[in-house]
Amino acid sequence: MNKTIEYIVGDGIGPEVFAAARPVIDAAVAKAYGDSRKLSWHELLAGEKAFKETGNYLPQETLDALAKAELAMKGPLGTPVGGGIRSLNVTMRQVLDLYACIRPIKYFQGIESPVKRPDLVDMIVFRENTEDVYAGIEWASGTPEAKRLIEFLESMGKKVDATAGIGIKPMTPAGSKRLVRKAIEHAVSQGKPNVTLVHKGNIMKFTEGGFRAWGYELAAEEFADQVMTEQQAKEGGTKPVVIKDRIADAMFQEVLIRPEQYSVIATTNLNGDYISDALAAQVGGLGLAPGVNMSASLAFFEATHGTAPTIAGMDKANPGSLVLCGAMLLEHVGWFEAAKLIHDAMDKVISAKTVTVDLASQIPGSTTVGCKAFGELLQK
Ligand code: NAD
Repeated sequence: MNKTIEYIVGDGIGPEVFAAARPVIDAAVAKAYGDSRKLSWHELLAGEKAFKETGNYLPQETLDALAKAELAMKGPLGTPVGGGIRSLNVTMRQVLDLYACIRPIKYFQGIESPVKRPDLVDMIVFRENTEDVYAGIEWASGTPEAKRLIEFLESMGKKVDATAGIGIKPMTPAGSKRLVRKAIEHAVSQGKPNVTLVHKGNIMKFTEGGFRAWGYELAAEEFADQVMTEQQAKEGGTKPVVIKDRIADAMFQEVLIRPEQYSVIATTNLNGDYISDALAAQVGGLGLAPGVNMSASLAFFEATHGTAPTIAGMDKANPGSLVLCGAMLLEHVGWFEAAKLIHDAMDKVISAKTVTVDLASQIPGSTTVGCKAFGELLQK
């Protein structure tokens, strides 16, 4: 049985973390299944490599291939500076309608963490990926478009400084509900105890507040047999999943002080961006933070970190994030034995304290190895 993965190596540290991670993923599949299952990797161009070869940072061929694919994986892509080019990541998310960004947070024993009981940290973030202030609807201060919009807003009785840069935050019931649906489906299928809607509805009532209301609405409409509110739980309800909501700023405190009370987090685009990085910091940082962006047809795995330009090409980067993306991919296709081998290898190598420099600073008494050597240890 073969599975084809479209892949983009990415910019900065992308090529080196990819070169270290891919053999770990292949080795786990070979160890678990011999020759009976295989991953076929097919490279697509994007980022600087694409620009050098085609003069385009995100060739149409790449988007076309991804639109037809079921599985893909990428290293980080830098945002080309200047020239008005939008983030390639954000463009791909929107063009391919990758509406859910899913990031699990798992603790590896031995890593120093800013939380007192990191062993209790077991969360997964579902971040809405296409709406909110990331929709890319904004105009610079002083542009005719910004001025026209300001005039329109003033005609509606909204006072706005004439020099303002202006951005729009669109959020829809359909966009919010499909994200919350995915989060609840995960909680129900994986036996997770709760789903928390994280929002700033106290300030932005019709967008963030909308997300909260639509989330509860969806839970009642589609999961009435499996999901109950906190209030219903207090009144003695016995359904397996509790849906609750927290205001985003308070939630940042909560996940530090009481991480054990949170399991699945469903949130809006900007809140999700912040909270995923903050949670990654609880368990070893961006070098150990995998994720997947999902549309209705494509699961596109990517490291949470960026191109880390200051260490690019120095064999210092941690490939762990992409390696864990590989484990997520294998779980996604149901190849659980191979995924477990990857998790076991990560546990073993981290416990042996032979790690890349980012982890070495968080593991007392550890020995530092390079990106390539770390990948080789994970294959043993
Ligand atoms: P970054 O994630 O590249 O770096 C933040 C810090 O984490 C740096 O100190 C870096 O050295 C360290 N770091 C990141 N990944 C690491 C790894 N695997 N191993 C060891 N250390 C690691 O964030 P940034 O500096 O804000 O962004 C740099 C570029 O990456 C920007 O162009 C940004 O747009 C892009 N970016 C891309 C993605 C993506 O492709 N998904 C995500 C975030 C940022």
